[in-house]
This record gives sequence, C-alpha cells and structure tokens, in this order.
Amino acid sequence: MRLRVIIPAMPDPNHPRFSIVGGGLAGGLFANCLAREGYEVELFERRPDPATGRVPAGRSINLALSMRGITALREVGLADEVLKHAIPMRGRMIHSPTGQTVFQPYSKNPEDAINSVSRAALNRVLIEAARARPNVSLHFDTRCVDVDLAETKARFAHEETGEYISSTGDIVIGADGAFSAVRGAMQRTDPFDYSQSYLAHGYKELTMPPRADGSHAMEPEALHIWPRRSYMMIALPNPDGSFTCTCFWPFDGPHGFSRLKTEADIRGYFDQHFADAVPHMPTLVEDYQRNPVGSLVTVRCAPWHIDGRIALIGDAAHAIVPFYGQGINAGFEDCRVLDGIMREHAPDFRRVFEAYSQERKPHGDAIADLAIANFLEMRDKAGTMRFRNKKRLERTLDALLPQYTPLYTMVTFTNIPYADAVARSERQDRAVAICAGLVLLVLLVVVALLAR
Ligand SMILES: Cc1cc2nc3c(=O)[nH]c(=O)nc-3n(C[C@H](O)[C@H](O)[C@H](O)COP(=O)(O)OP(=O)(O)OC[C@H]3O[C@@H](n4cnc5c(N)ncnc54)[C@H](O)[C@@H]3O)c2cc1C
Repeated sequence: MRLRVIIPAMPDPNHPRFSIVGGGLAGGLFANCLAREGYEVELFERRPDPATGRVPAGRSINLALSMRGITALREVGLADEVLKHAIPMRGRMIHSPTGQTVFQPYSKNPEDAINSVSRAALNRVLIEAARARPNVSLHFDTRCVDVDLAETKARFAHEETGEYISSTGDIVIGADGAFSAVRGAMQRTDPFDYSQSYLAHGYKELTMPPRADGSHAMEPEALHIWPRRSYMMIALPNPDGSFTCTCFWPFDGPHGFSRLKTEADIRGYFDQHFADAVPHMPTLVEDYQRNPVGSLVTVRCAPWHIDGRIALIGDAAHAIVPFYGQGINAGFEDCRVLDGIMREHAPDFRRVFEAYSQERKPHGDAIADLAIANFLEMRDKAGTMRFRNKKRLERTLDALLPQYTPLYTMVTFTNIPYADAVARSERQDRAVAICAGLVLLVLLVVVALLAR
C-alpha cells in the first residue's frame, strides 16, 4: 500500500487551507463559499466524479429545494443555474384510495413553490462550479478512513487503487453525510454528545416514466401523495417527463416491504392501495425487486466543532428524516450562516466555529422534530377532512391577519430560523385558541340574551 502525503503550503494563520470531507451537496456548496472568499480548498469525495454521471440504481433521490436552499445558492451565484434543472411544485396532490385527487396549495401566494430537483443534477452544478475555481482541488473515489483530530489530518483510501492519501489542511470540514467519518472520530472525544434513532419505516424508489409524447403522466407542478395512514407513497416530477416515486413503508408487518416478494404480491398490493398510479408504472415489478430499501435516521450531536480546527455541516451535523423536505435546505443554510460568521470573525476560527455551533444547533434540533411530526401528518392526516379544514383555516387566517403566518410557510418560504419559526407558531396557535374561545363566549352570551 502506498502512502501519498499532500504537503500544504506553509500554514498562514490569517488564511488557513480547508480540507472538506464529502463532496455531496453541503460540501459542494461550502467549497464554493470558501473559494469565493479566496481560501485554498481540497475536497475529497468517496464516490466517482459526478461528471461521469454514474448514479447507483434506486438512489436517484429528488429533493424539494425551497427558500433557505435557494437563498444560500444565490449568495454564490448558483441559484439560477440550479433552478434550470428544477420543476416548481405549488401544492400537494392528494390521491385517495379510490383514485380521487384533491390539490392543496402550499401557500396563499400562488408564486410560492418548492422545487423538485434531482440530487445528482444539484451535485453536478455545485461540483462544476467548484472545479472552475482555481483555488479548489477535487479528489474523487477517495474515502475518508480516519481523522487524526490532534493533528487535524484526514486520511483517505482510494476506492479503486487502495492508495492512501493523507491531507494536512489547517481546518477539516466534515460534510460527509449522516454516517460521517469525521463525526465518528469526534464521537470518541470528551465531551461530545451523540444520538441516533431510526424510523421503523424505510424508503424505496420506483419510476413513473413519461407518456409516449414525453409529457408527465400526472400534474407536473405538484408533489403527489398517496397517504394510507401507516404507510404512504409520494411522487416528485422530473424535467424529462418522469416522476420519481418513493414508498415510505414499514420494513416489516402487513404493510411492510418484506411482505411483497413475488410479482403477484407486488401487483396485487399496488392494485389494492395505489390503483390510480399503477397504469403509469410499467416497470413497477422490476423496480420494486431491484431497488434497495433505504433507512431513515435522525442524528443529533453537539458541539459541531473542535476548537477552531474541525467543524461539521449538513447531515454530518444533523441528519433528519425527509418529511419536511428540509434536509439539504438546512445543510445549505449551515453554509450560508457559517460563511457569514467567518466574514465577521475570521481568522479567529475558534470564535467562528463556536458561534456557528451555538447558533445552528437549536435550529437543527427544531427541524429534526418538525420532520418527524410531519411524517405523521403526511402519512396519517393529509387525506382526512380534519386536516383539510385545518389547512383551510390556516390559509384564511394567513389571508386575513397580516401578523399570522402558518408554520409550513415560515419553514418553507422564509429564512426565519427554524426554532424561531416554531416559537412564533406556538404563540400564534395560543392567540388563535384564545380568540376562538372569546368568539364562542360572545356567541353564547348573544344566544343566551336572545333566548331571554
Ligand atoms: C428519500 C430522501 C428524500 C429526501 N428529500 C429531501 C427533500 O425533499 N428536501 C431536502 O432538503 N432534503 C431531502 N432529503 C435529505 C437530503 O438528501 C440530505 O439532507 C442531503 O443530501 C444532505 O447533504 P449532505 O451534503 O450533508 O450529505 P450527503 O448528501 O449525504 O453527502 C455526503 C457526501 O459525503 C460522501 N461521503 C460519505 N462518507 C464519506 C467518506 N468516508 N469519505 C469521503 N466522502 C464521504 C458521500 O458520498 C456524499 O457524497 C432527502 C433524503 C432522502 C433519503
């Protein structure tokens, strides 16, 4: 086994070099933020160069990109390029078991939309923009196998040659996702809090191809949901006329993935529960049998840094379940906030990372909780009359009262920090409950007076 050491230029305390572990979404964006500020950046990614277009089957993942993500992209001048690859979704299209559909707009403002974009397309834009910067060097097929925290040194093994590469950047950024190797090393330090919890549900991707004329088989500007209480399917549109469908089901049990084995099992189950989708899914059985079941994990940890030398961003710091569509929006917001703090306090990176970790951690926790709550809402309640009435009431209050903004709107269509949005929503709910109580009281008094 050969060992290659990348020898950095002499450390300059005023302008440290950054090694980013993980060239996914958060890592790709942060490389651009750093490069724009003139820092030298090395980015190490386990997977092949996205320019090769090799995406593992069944792991395409569409993301709903909303205000926070777009704001962060806009700061590095990449929002317009990304949005060229996206389809706006202006509301939920709920599919009942009998095949009836109801459209629920996301906002009172018809311009408000979340944007369906494939992870691969988004990643390509970020990596190509980083590649074009003279102060960024990219390394693909390099898996981080170890981080020496004391020496601020990450060690990588090349996926194909087995060659070891060692980096000695002055600062290491862990952007290596939910199962972060950088965080793994930090977990062995004292004091570092860490917890992870899995849902009993996993996810599997299926495809709905375009019609023969290339058009979408269902309304393209909507996020389609088939809520079935303990399980559900969703579908997000792609620019090529297809939809990526994702089943969120329990691993086991009567509605679990493990129950469907044969072609007859799969066809029978989909005909019974997702009948209106089946005619548009000609490769249903092959997709179901070929594509893996992914797990859904929530990771919480603190602090998100060690001194002024190592820090975590994106899922490495706060993996959340995907049901609020905020995972990468939160990760991109990390980059934007960290970038802003750096501009204020660099080169005092201890202060930079402390401020970043303290500021972002409560918001990471808040969106993690909201994402789990929204899973129950999408799965159990989205199809019910009560849920529809609640959304209608929210839209009415939103239209009538300038001070009222629904929680979903604050999370999705503003940059109000997550925990602040939750606190404001709780205050609004209390005020609405008090007003409703007062109105009821007045009505009772009026009725009592009339009855005298
Ligand atoms: C089914 C599903 C649907 C989702 N839907 C949405 C949505 O609608 N909206 C939204 O905002 N979010 C969504 N998310 C979440 C979103 O995908 C993540 O939050 C986002 O990808 C996190 O970005 P990241 O860069 O932090 O991590 P990742 O995207 O996981 O990137 C980490 C990168 O690090 C690399 N890596 C990992 N380990 C190593 C190592 N040891 N060495 C080197 N490189 C390494 C990986 O190959 C990867 O490229 C969804 C997630 C899932 C699973």
